[in-house]
Amino acid sequence: QIFMPLNFLGFVYREIRGSLANIENLFNLLGTVPTVADAPSAGKLEINQSRIHFDNVSFYYRAERRILNHVNFTIEPGTKVAIVGESGAGKSTLVKLLFRFYDPVSGAVRIDDQDISTVTQHSLRQHIGIVPQDTVLFNDTIGENIRYGRPDATEQDIQQAIHLAHLEQFIASLPDGLNTQVGERGLKLSGGEKQRVAIARAILKRPAIMVFDEATSSLDSQSEQAILSALREVAEGHTSMVIAHRLSTIIDADKILVMQQGQIVEQGTHSELLSQQGVYAGLWQAQQKQASD
Ligand code: ADP
Ligand code: MG
Repeated sequence: QIFMPLNFLGFVYREIRGSLANIENLFNLLGTVPTVADAPSAGKLEINQSRIHFDNVSFYYRAERRILNHVNFTIEPGTKVAIVGESGAGKSTLVKLLFRFYDPVSGAVRIDDQDISTVTQHSLRQHIGIVPQDTVLFNDTIGENIRYGRPDATEQDIQQAIHLAHLEQFIASLPDGLNTQVGERGLKLSGGEKQRVAIARAILKRPAIMVFDEATSSLDSQSEQAILSALREVAEGHTSMVIAHRLSTIIDADKILVMQQGQIVEQGTHSELLSQQGVYAGLWQAQQKQASD
């Protein structure tokens, strides 16, 4: 049941690789998520400073269960905002709305004052790089899987992305190096290896806006630290949104939003939130205790 669709995905991928500039369109094409249509008059998203604004956004997948409830926040240009909260709080849903896999039920998501539902999906997705929670690899070589971040990348760009994503040693250990087949019919990669491929793709793409959805959650804590420092370098000066499970990875964020059941219940810097002694402080203490146990 899993093999057939993945096989099909590989087929579709090869068919359209030349003409499609980003992976995310492929998901739409396959109907993995409901597609939203471009407005007939849709123009291109014009990136100026890359300010992101969730303006009173409410959302549900099914009307009987509201997922996001009047969410308001701004990510100022060039800053890093972290989003934390328990599983199911609605964090990944924020990412899906930013990427316009869905439209808000009410409110709007704006980038540089443009409502993203009024611009073409292609132009929107061109400017956003996502390292998702689960990475899909195509039945192709690992090199092509990385190149997918930017099909016209040079060898040098690719080598740099591999370096920053800490994939050098891994690739050197493969029988055919970059030409090794991966995916369903090739070498199976671990969760952490797949995440590093996704990170290399995002590094190659170098978009104005970067989104990391628990991007280092499958890595052991040593690789996590190494990757995090690479990501910090890559995200420097970019507007970025980081969803984190381990709070220790986001203490340097310019702002931390704490979500609970589809609402932002607290926001501030790490030290501001700790001194509030609220939800965030509770999560922090629980994770500190877990780490020391
Ligand atoms: P988080 O990333 O914080 O763990 P999500 O945004 O993934 O949370 O999910 C928020 C809620 O929305 C969860 O209860 C989840 O079950 C539900 N949900 C997520 N995706 C879908 C979907 N495609 N259809 C219906 N419900 C969904
Ligand atoms: Mg999630």
